[in-house]
Amino acid sequence: MFQKAFVQPNFIKSLQCVGSKAFSSQSTASNEREYEILQGPLDLLSEEEIMFKDSVAKFAQENIAPFVKEMDKTGIIPDALLKKVFEQGLMGVEVPTEYNGSESTFFNTCLMIEEIAKVDMGISVIIDIQNTLINNMLKLLGTAEQKEKYLKRFPVDMAGSFCLSEAESGSDAFALKTRADQEGEYFILNGSKLWISNANVAGVFLVMANANPSKGYRGITCFIVDRDTPGLTVGRPEDKLGIRCSSTCPVIFDNVKVHKSQILGKLGEGYKYAIGFLNEGRIGISSQLVGAAQGCLDHTLPYVHERKQFGKKLWDFQGMQHQIAEMVTHVEAARLLTYNAARRKEAGLPATKQASMAKYYAAETACKVTSKCIDWLGGIGITKDFPVEKYYRDVKVGTIYEGTSNIQLNTIAKYLEIEANESY
Ligand SMILES: Cc1cc2nc3c(=O)[nH]c(=O)nc-3n(C[C@H](O)[C@H](O)[C@H](O)COP(=O)(O)OP(=O)(O)OC[C@H]3O[C@@H](n4cnc5c(N)ncnc54)[C@H](O)[C@@H]3O)c2cc1C
Repeated sequence: MFQKAFVQPNFIKSLQCVGSKAFSSQSTASNEREYEILQGPLDLLSEEEIMFKDSVAKFAQENIAPFVKEMDKTGIIPDALLKKVFEQGLMGVEVPTEYNGSESTFFNTCLMIEEIAKVDMGISVIIDIQNTLINNMLKLLGTAEQKEKYLKRFPVDMAGSFCLSEAESGSDAFALKTRADQEGEYFILNGSKLWISNANVAGVFLVMANANPSKGYRGITCFIVDRDTPGLTVGRPEDKLGIRCSSTCPVIFDNVKVHKSQILGKLGEGYKYAIGFLNEGRIGISSQLVGAAQGCLDHTLPYVHERKQFGKKLWDFQGMQHQIAEMVTHVEAARLLTYNAARRKEAGLPATKQASMAKYYAAETACKVTSKCIDWLGGIGITKDFPVEKYYRDVKVGTIYEGTSNIQLNTIAKYLEIEANESY
């Protein structure tokens, strides 16, 4: 298990421990002054962070790498591997030790996701969602009973799914149609969710349903629904282009009866939770895309230094060097945007704009870089003998899930407008 020792970020020292401000979004100068920002390069990690990152990298090489091809083919994460992921402490990085977690930092969560995605982006999905969405929602919103029942198991043996999207409501998520009609102490859930990650293996579902449609999105409420609740069905996994071992399924609710004690947080506040936690989740997705882009480069560059054409190594052509230098620079920029957003979130500073910038840039970069890697390999780049075509397929979803690239640009533009209104 990763231990509590991995807790201190190196540059940002919180003078006032304000905890995780899950839903703070506005940047204010006074807010910033609450923190002592120490000088130093963003990519310089503390000793603890380096140890943590290295131990995850070693775990990924030893335990995940041997299964990458098979998982891509079968679309399944072997049970024994998922068990090891739990045993290694990868499913409860920020969960307090009293709930069986490692009580470490959000920044370490991001480092972990980056290292796992370097080896396999598919398996990094379950690790990312568990840590950035499921655990944090229970940790920050759960009652003592809910934490005892669910949060204690999340680091150990139970995965969760986050259920927001529906067939008719993707980017426009709060147009969701799933209803939760109150009958005495119970709510009756009816509707269908689509694209639900990890649904095949999840023991519990965090479901956004409207408990009061007359109030519009202010009726949206988050319910904790156990997998074995009568009326809940997980549909057939989608046959996807990439991240194939990450199950993505419809989840259907047919008169699913849930006690009111299963509401997570407050009635009618589900939309706030979805916005807040997805804003943070995007930093995890950026980490994933940075990792995958780097992993793809790591597989490609040795070949470029070895392969000869026209009597020279491919690397020796300036046309190649310039392309490679450009792509490596994009990956480094995406990493720094990601680290900056993660450090801000960890310090309790507003990070919504930064998270959208990081996610947008990392997604577009990962698509560009993995495509270039195939170019640099020539014909073998598109064969399954080399792992590069898989990275190319895996990263595409980065421009779609947890908010498409256009939606990230919308968010960035919204902040630019606020800033413009403040200054002009
Ligand atoms: C593999 C995978 C896993 C997923 N996992 C989950 C999960 O675990 N839980 C969950 O709840 N959801 C999940 N999703 C759903 C995901 O979040 C949605 O697919 C995403 O939000 C986009 O919604 P959509 O697919 O309906 O596309 P649409 O919203 O229909 O978008 C289609 C296109 O229109 C553009 N567009 C839409 N609105 C605007 C606008 N206002 N301005 C400019 N352009 C716009 C989009 O950018 C996009 O290019 C997953 C999706 C995938 C593919």
